[in-house]
Parts: sequence; structure tokens; C-alpha cells
Amino acid sequence: MIRWAHGEGLDMTLIETMPMGEIDEDRTDQYLPLSMVRADLAERFTLEDIPYKTGGPARYVTIGETGGRLGFITPMTHNFCESCNRVRVTCTGTLYMCLGQDDAADLREPLRASEGNELLNAAIDEAISRKPKGHDFIIDRRSKRPSVSRHMSVTGG
Ligand code: SF4
Repeated sequence: MIRWAHGEGLDMTLIETMPMGEIDEDRTDQYLPLSMVRADLAERFTLEDIPYKTGGPARYVTIGETGGRLGFITPMTHNFCESCNRVRVTCTGTLYMCLGQDDAADLREPLRASEGNELLNAAIDEAISRKPKGHDFIIDRRSKRPSVSRHMSVTGG
């Protein structure tokens, strides 16, 4: 797969499953730590860490044998929350300060309450002050419930 993708001039990015949203399956059956994937790949390819960034959370390596890039998104084995400055606004005006937490702020009400931006700006400032340091994701056989009941599709990737 890597050889094919890089042969086509494509980067590849993988991502660890996150415990978001109610699902019927056992997440431990879906969870594959990318640290294991990387170790497995390192037996067959020459991986070199590079500082390449796309603005997203992936950490990249180059594959010596193909010359292409491979990105790892590792919310579980090595979370990237310490460098996160992201928030998300839904089409209904809800501001989520973290993908991995339920806390949110309603922006629709202050937006509708005034012609000016003061109330909206104050609501955003207050919400940002509540942005958490990171997520509480856990995947193991003792915690069957998702860490966050909201599905990823509510806020987008
Ligand atoms: S889990 Fe929250 S803090 Fe961590 S990277 Fe995602 S949005 Fe940012």
C-alpha cells in the first residue's frame, strides 16, 4: 500500500481510532496503536522523522525506499494536545473547545441578541478560557462507554 501510494505521488496518513460516539462494537477490537504499526514498518522500511507540517496533528516521516511521506496521527499513544489551538463551530452555532470533551458554548444566542460583536466576542473569550488541556480518551476492556458520546461527524474532523 505504501509503495503504491508513494508511487502515485500520494502522502499517506493513518490515524488511531478514538473513543467518540456510541457504537455497538467493542473498541478494543478496533484499536491498533500506531506505535506498533510504526515498529512493524521500521523492520521493512527506513523511516526518518521530518519536521514537515500541514497544520493538522500528523507527525511525518519519510520512507527512504519510496521517497514519500507517511503521517501518523496518534491521539492515544502520543497525544498532541499540548500544541492544540483548535476549536470547532458547528453550523448551529455551538462552539466546541475540544474534540475530546463535551463542554461547549452557544454562540447563536449572543449573535442574535445584538447588532454589534461585543456579546459574541465576550462569549468566545469566555469559552476559550475553558479550553481544556487535553482529552480524556481511554480505550480498554474495563471502560466500555465512549469517552465522548458525541460522534465525530457532529463537529467534523
Ligand atoms: S483532543 Fe482536544 S485538546 Fe487534544 S488535540 Fe483534539 S481538540 Fe485539541
